[in-house]
Amino acid sequence: MHRFLITAAIATMIQLAVTAVPATAAEATKVNSFYPANKAPLPQSAYSILPLGAVMPQGWLKQQLTIQTTGLTGNLPKFWNDVGPASAWLGGKGEGWERGPYYTDGMVPLAFLTQDPELMEMARKWVGWTLDHQRLDGGIGPASCTDWWPLGLMCKTLTQYYDATGDARVIPVMTKFFAYMQVELPKRPLHEWAKMRWADTALSAIWLYNRTGNPALLEVSKLLMAQGHDYAQQFSNFQAYSKPSQGWNLENHGVNAGMAYKTPGIMFQLTGEAKYRKAVDDGISNLDKYHGQAGGTFAADECFAGRSPTQGTELCSVDESMFSFENLIAMFGDPLMSDKLERMSYNAWPGTFSPDMWAHQYDQQANQPICRISKEKWFITNGGEANLWGVEPQFGCCTANMHQGWPKFVRHLWMATPDDGLAAVTYGPCSVTAKVKGGNTVTIDVVTDYPFSDVIKMTVRTAKPVEFPLQLRIPAWAEGASVQTDKTLTPRPGSFATVSRLWSNGDTITLKLPMKIRIERRFNNSATVLRGPLVYSLRIGENWHKFRGDDAHPDYELLPTTPWNYGLILDEKNPQQSFEVVTKPLTEPVYSSKNAPVELHAKARLVPTWKEARNSADVPPVSPVQSAEPIQDIVLIPYGCAKLRITEFPVLGE
Ligand SMILES: [Zn+2]
Repeated sequence: MHRFLITAAIATMIQLAVTAVPATAAEATKVNSFYPANKAPLPQSAYSILPLGAVMPQGWLKQQLTIQTTGLTGNLPKFWNDVGPASAWLGGKGEGWERGPYYTDGMVPLAFLTQDPELMEMARKWVGWTLDHQRLDGGIGPASCTDWWPLGLMCKTLTQYYDATGDARVIPVMTKFFAYMQVELPKRPLHEWAKMRWADTALSAIWLYNRTGNPALLEVSKLLMAQGHDYAQQFSNFQAYSKPSQGWNLENHGVNAGMAYKTPGIMFQLTGEAKYRKAVDDGISNLDKYHGQAGGTFAADECFAGRSPTQGTELCSVDESMFSFENLIAMFGDPLMSDKLERMSYNAWPGTFSPDMWAHQYDQQANQPICRISKEKWFITNGGEANLWGVEPQFGCCTANMHQGWPKFVRHLWMATPDDGLAAVTYGPCSVTAKVKGGNTVTIDVVTDYPFSDVIKMTVRTAKPVEFPLQLRIPAWAEGASVQTDKTLTPRPGSFATVSRLWSNGDTITLKLPMKIRIERRFNNSATVLRGPLVYSLRIGENWHKFRGDDAHPDYELLPTTPWNYGLILDEKNPQQSFEVVTKPLTEPVYSSKNAPVELHAKARLVPTWKEARNSADVPPVSPVQSAEPIQDIVLIPYGCAKLRITEFPVLGE
């Protein structure tokens, strides 16, 4: 109690200090009093991103971050040289391009969200080397690195480190680096990856502008935009880029596109032009329309690959898409973007890792009943190892870049509102501690098994009663949602419900988000089953066959031990009648086939004409399909639990 009182007193002093600052042009936009958002002339942000550590994982999400820590993230430097002690990003003679910065971009937030001592030490070491080895001209990173892309990537790590620690070295180093960039860019313009991924660098420059107000940072951001690829144009005049006519190129590259979801948003930040705001929505809808996949992102193996569920989605394109949406939500506050973020984060993301997070895939498929060593695959430009499981299948970018997904998702569950309140933009078990109106610090504990459960219980902890607005996202699928405080609200799905009142210590909010079963018709009129934020897939027996590597970190084929070629018996007008929902207590690790916390029991028949092709399932036959096979019971489990899966089912006709 005493600690709270002191905190509140300091907070009040800080708030007085803030309000005592003379009015400037920067105050023309409404911003949260405690957490930076866009400063004028940038357009107003919908939300401020909270400092790293303000939202801490609880419940199954906490366990998930522990699994990641004891899995590849905590152990990779011990045996994978590209992020080992010889990294050029630590002053050695080893890897000096993107892999070091990719690793730190996820390892650093994981360290602060788990407080794992070993990770914290690594975070200090990696960030410390960059901060302590800036060259006189302002350049950062290994002297051998002349590509702007990994340098911009390292800036993303620095912003997170600063948000967590307030380390006094960060702001001067970044300021000097961007000044150097402004001088150098006209002489050494962006090319290749840096040209496509410029917005990720501009994001850090804008982050710095919002903390220092230095106008040169907007100039360098606009220079990046002028030299960078125009994704707004590409997304608004989308050329489909579907297989097989287009080969491998940077414009239809999946990871670039995942990063680029936010690029028109950055263009809007820098210009305020409506066409860029429209291009954000065009990008989201066109990627879905032409390449959308049931797991929540799009197919690109490793370039755009169309809507067939046999095509692949690269791991890096999933976590980069997640990071893009986390930033788009802060920019625009669109609840549908939050729905999209949850769909990719709770389905495609866990679906591409082994339950212990020691093995990952390069490419995942929505229909993935077989992951076998073979040359012939459905993938356009990826090889026969792309959907195997291990340390470095196909190519090591995902090995370096798999670390940011969960920690950044946790960090962005809550954001601060311009009117000094808090917004729950996505849901999961966590605690958020932040300053609200009047400078009071409150904690909200979110207790839930979401996305496996439809009940979310929040409890407010506060030293004294405090009034502030609380925004709660109501997903578009949540028909009949209710918010219960001292009264019960029934807000509209696909919106934010705002509860503005005096909150006292121990006050509770109970959110009910009814999860009705929904059916989506997808490729060849196949059916995908959804319930709440989760997509459901056929549970297939798994044989994890080690074929390479040592016992500590082997590579696996993943082979089926049960049939997969089922057609679904479906009463589409009344899908609730076609499935029996069976829920189980959460058991760690939740994202595994055997521990699946929710099962949907359904009826199906084998479809003998639907066979294996190219070492995977053939494309699903056009529905409706016929089968004379006997009716069987099948079990669907969350996509992320089903490492072998069928997600787009043929539907049996009458
Ligand atoms: Zn990758």
